[in-house]
Amino acid sequence: MAYIAPAGTWLTLGDVGRGLAAGWRDPGAATSLCAGLSQLSHSARAWAFVSGRAAMTFALGVLARHAESGRNRVIVPAYTCYSVPAAVERAGLVPQPCDMDPATLSLDLDHLAQLAGTDTLAIVSANLFGIPNALSDIEALARARGIAMLDDAAQALGAKLHDRAVGGFGDLGLFSFDKGKNISTIQGGALLVRDGPWVGAFDASIGELAPSGALDTALTVAKLAPYSLFLRPSGYAFVRRIPLLGLGETRYDLTYPITGLSPVLAGLAGLQLARLPELTRVRRANAGALRSALEDLPNVRAIELAAEAEPAFPRYPVRARSAQARQRILARLHRDGIGASAFYPRALVDVPAVARHGIPTAHSYAGAREIADTIVTLPTHAWCPDDLALRVRAAFAADLEP
Ligand SMILES: *Cc1c(COP(=O)(O)O)cnc(C)c1O
Repeated sequence: MAYIAPAGTWLTLGDVGRGLAAGWRDPGAATSLCAGLSQLSHSARAWAFVSGRAAMTFALGVLARHAESGRNRVIVPAYTCYSVPAAVERAGLVPQPCDMDPATLSLDLDHLAQLAGTDTLAIVSANLFGIPNALSDIEALARARGIAMLDDAAQALGAKLHDRAVGGFGDLGLFSFDKGKNISTIQGGALLVRDGPWVGAFDASIGELAPSGALDTALTVAKLAPYSLFLRPSGYAFVRRIPLLGLGETRYDLTYPITGLSPVLAGLAGLQLARLPELTRVRRANAGALRSALEDLPNVRAIELAAEAEPAFPRYPVRARSAQARQRILARLHRDGIGASAFYPRALVDVPAVARHGIPTAHSYAGAREIADTIVTLPTHAWCPDDLALRVRAAFAADLEP
C-alpha cells in the first residue's frame, strides 16, 4: 500500500544529477549558495556547513570566545530538535530550556524574561514547522539585555514575519538542509551573521573551519538517489521500514563532524534554493487545505499565527485534545497510509541528557510538555495526494464518535 512520507522535498533523479553536477563543475558553488542565503535573509555573511548542528556548534563557540567571561548559558526552546541542546553542550556551554506557549509554539516571553541574565550568552528561537515565533519581541529582549540572539530557522527557510525572512532576526541565523527540512541535501546547513559587532569575530574564525570530508560527502551523495525515488507514496511504503535509515528518529548525539559543506552538495542546495518560492507555495497551499478541512472539528486545535506571519510549513502541525486522543488519531492516520507524526517524543526538560545540566525547578514547563503530548504533524510536500485533507479529517472525525 502507498504511504505518504511525513515530510520531504520534491526532487527527481534528474534534479539530483543536475544539482550535484553543477556543484562538481563549480568549486564556487558553496559561495553562490551562501550569496543567495545572505540576500534572502539580509545578512552580511553566510557560510555553508555539513549540518545545521555543526553550524550552531561553531557559532556558539565563536560567541563564547568573544563574549564577556561568565556568559556560559544558552537559552533554548524547551520543545525543539534535540540537536539544539546537543550543539550547546558540544560547544562547552549549558543549555537552559525556556518554556513555550502551546497556542503559538513560540517561546514563553515571561519565562524568557526571567531566565535571561548576566550569565546568558545567547537565546535560540524555534520556528518549528516553519511558523515564525514572536521574533521581534525576542530580538528586542535580547538586545536590551546585551545577549546574542540566534534565530533558528532550521525548519523555516522561506518563512517571513513582517516581511522579514525568518533566520534573519537577531544577530545570527541558522538553516538546515537535513532530510525533513524546507530544502534537502540529506545533510547540510548554513550559518548567517547579520551585521554589526559579530561580523569581525566570525570573519576571523571561519578560516579554522575544516573542509568537508570526502567519505562523509560520498555517503550522503549515495543516499540522494533513493531519497528522490522513495519520497513518493509508492516508494515510501517500503523504505520507512528499513531501520538503518533511522527515518523519523530523534537522538541526542554529540559525535557529529563540524566541517564546511561539500561544493557538490552546495550545488544541489543551490538548485533547490532557486525553487524555494514554488516549494513553499505548494506546502502553504497543502497546509491551507488541511486547515480548512479541520477547522470545524472540536477535537483539533490549529496553531495561532502572529500577525503578518508567512509560514513555510515543511509539515502542518495541529494539537489533539490529549495524549491518548493523539495516540488513537495517529494510529488511524497510520492505518490509512498517512505519515503523520508525534514529532519530538519529549520536552527537553524530560530528556535525561538535557536535564543532567540542571533544570530551573521554579517553573513547571507545562507549555512545552503540553506540546510534546498533543502535537500531530501532517505532510505538506508536493507528493501529497489531492484527497489528503479529507482523509485526515476523517481520521480526526472518527475519534469524535462515541
Ligand atoms: C533540524 C534542526 C536543527 C539541526 O539541523 P541539522 O541540520 O539536522 O543538524 C536545529 N534546530 C531545529 C529546530 C531543527 O529542526
